Amino acid sequence: MNNTFIDTVHVVFKENQHLNVAEKLWKSWYDYMDNDILATGLLFFFTHEVVYFGRCLPWMIIDKIPYFRRWKIQPSNIPSDKEQWECLKSVLLSHFMVEALPIWTFHPMCQKLGISVSVPFPSWTKMFWEFCLFFVLEDCWHYWAHRLFHYGPFYKYVHKQHHRYAAPFGLTAEYAHPVEVMSLGFGTVGFPIIYAYFTRDLHLFTITCWVCLRLFQAVDAHSGYDFPWSLHNFIPFWAGAEHHDLHHHYFIGNYASSFRWWDYTLDTEAGPEAKKSRETRWRLKQEAKLAKSMEKKSKTDSK
Ligand SMILES: [Zn+2]
Ligand SMILES: [Zn+2]
Repeated sequence: MNNTFIDTVHVVFKENQHLNVAEKLWKSWYDYMDNDILATGLLFFFTHEVVYFGRCLPWMIIDKIPYFRRWKIQPSNIPSDKEQWECLKSVLLSHFMVEALPIWTFHPMCQKLGISVSVPFPSWTKMFWEFCLFFVLEDCWHYWAHRLFHYGPFYKYVHKQHHRYAAPFGLTAEYAHPVEVMSLGFGTVGFPIIYAYFTRDLHLFTITCWVCLRLFQAVDAHSGYDFPWSLHNFIPFWAGAEHHDLHHHYFIGNYASSFRWWDYTLDTEAGPEAKKSRETRWRLKQEAKLAKSMEKKSKTDSK
């Protein structure tokens, strides 16, 4: 093992000209750690912490700048410093509690499933399709698990914590009961594991990037801001903050995480507009039913 991480980086960069920068850095990390279990565990832990809090930071700054209020979905509900601080402490504590075990167990599991940690990485095309698959599966899992969490005792003893903030802000994305963190977390980590089990062809770098994308999605959905340049304005089936903010505001409906199709198809969209269109549809259905029964009656009478 070299003395410092920088020494290792120098050696790896010099000896592996055929690799790209990300691959060289990845190899440097594993060479430097010289212990794959710890290297994978810490890589996951640090990636989670850096990406989660790093992505929350711009939202915390935006909350402080009045100019951005015009795009705040619930403009009268700006989180106070105290709320942000309490939420931060709670999320940090839950991260340490929930992630202590996976740090030691993740790499042995990767080895069992044939999840590769070697370089070079798979192609970007392969990774892209795997991301799409994980997004779709996670969204499905999230929809049904979240709907279940809104049922009586599950809500009372588990999910209620996440609904403490009726107007969410970035940090609240993972502000939840440990049971919820683990069960909804299955949607993020569980499907890549199942995929690896069946295909025996998944790279840890793909999982790492997927976790980063999912963290971006979760934090942004809780940001409380809907900008003209927000993704759902370009991709209509993307959920985004506008979708999830309504869930926190009205407590029912909009259960999915990344996409709108489950809530749309199963008629569980939240908010006054969705309620109105649901009522209109119901009224039209009733009117059609009435007209049909009257038609039937007049036919019977005329016989
Ligand atoms: Zn909920
Ligand atoms: Zn939420």
